Amino acid sequence: MKKNQVLDQRHRPLRDLRISVTDRCNFRCTYCMPKEIFGDDYQFLPKDHLLTFEEIVRLTKIFVELGVKKIKLTGGEPLLRKDVYKLIAMLSKIEGIHDIGLTTNGVYLKKYGSKLYEAGLRRLNISLDAIDDDTFRRLNGRDVSAKTVLANIDYAVSIGFSVKVNMVVQKGVNDHQILPMTEYFKNKGIPLRFIEFMDVGNTNGWNMKDVLIKKDIVKMISSVYSIEPIDENYFGEVAKRYRHQDTGSEIGFITSVSEPFCSSCTRARISSDGKLYTCLYAHEGFDLRDFIRSGKSPEEIKMAIERVWQNRKDQYSVERTENKGMLNKNKIEMSYIGG
Ligand code: SAM
Repeated sequence: MKKNQVLDQRHRPLRDLRISVTDRCNFRCTYCMPKEIFGDDYQFLPKDHLLTFEEIVRLTKIFVELGVKKIKLTGGEPLLRKDVYKLIAMLSKIEGIHDIGLTTNGVYLKKYGSKLYEAGLRRLNISLDAIDDDTFRRLNGRDVSAKTVLANIDYAVSIGFSVKVNMVVQKGVNDHQILPMTEYFKNKGIPLRFIEFMDVGNTNGWNMKDVLIKKDIVKMISSVYSIEPIDENYFGEVAKRYRHQDTGSEIGFITSVSEPFCSSCTRARISSDGKLYTCLYAHEGFDLRDFIRSGKSPEEIKMAIERVWQNRKDQYSVERTENKGMLNKNKIEMSYIGG
């Protein structure tokens, strides 16, 4: 075992940290923050409940000592957090971090893209569930045109970002967009990843029958394009990757429903109010904000995080698949824990 490597009960090392910087979002995607629930009177976290940038940096340094090498900022919509580029600049200076990414719906990239790039960010995951305007406007719940996001993807690429596009596929909702999205991003040479619709949270009305699994998506794509699987880049890589044989453009699949990857899950998550979760499907977290605000030393915080990780046994997706259906009914919402 490497010097700074902490292992959980299933021998999984801690390598990645996803940090949610806000629970707010400018979209009301039907499967994530449906507007019937996240309406005008919804109580989002008050500002002083959010971790400050300084607190996030202090915690991140401790996570790096425990083996974390990759950071992803998420939310809610991370670009809604005021001056998030300043956080990127602070995180970029931490020694030991090899990679910082950010996941966004892309709407504010025109506005903040260059500041984020100057601050040191190089990787973006941009969520886009359809290029057909009617479908996309309906899905995002805010009548935002797909053209806005497509233009911002081009802009992000033009200023130097490495971009991947993520599409959550729901049967009968946007599966007719699989081939048009494949064609569009193949021509652009931008990796497109299909995410199986997951039973995160309790508000999205998830049902197994709405999930289009990787096998069926591959079949659909292969009926038109010649694609071939490519090898894993590293242990714990989330996406199963393929490439178009003619152009080499990549497509990937996040198969948390049909082929769970819990056994190689090396991710911890911090919610915007500073709770540590070791699974996207968890129902309770460990309050790091309380630790940090009550004056605990970095050493004490490190020991607490180490304990949480060492006790970790979770493998929700494996158990859900074995159970052939949803298990835990009190899961944390994706917008809160950070997707
Ligand atoms: N607002 C940012 C964005 O749009 O990328 C970051 C947060 S969002 C929760 C992160 C990702 O989670 C998005 O790609 C979103 O589509 C995905 N997501 C949300 N709910 C999901 C679900 N039930 N199943 C699969 N993916 C989901």
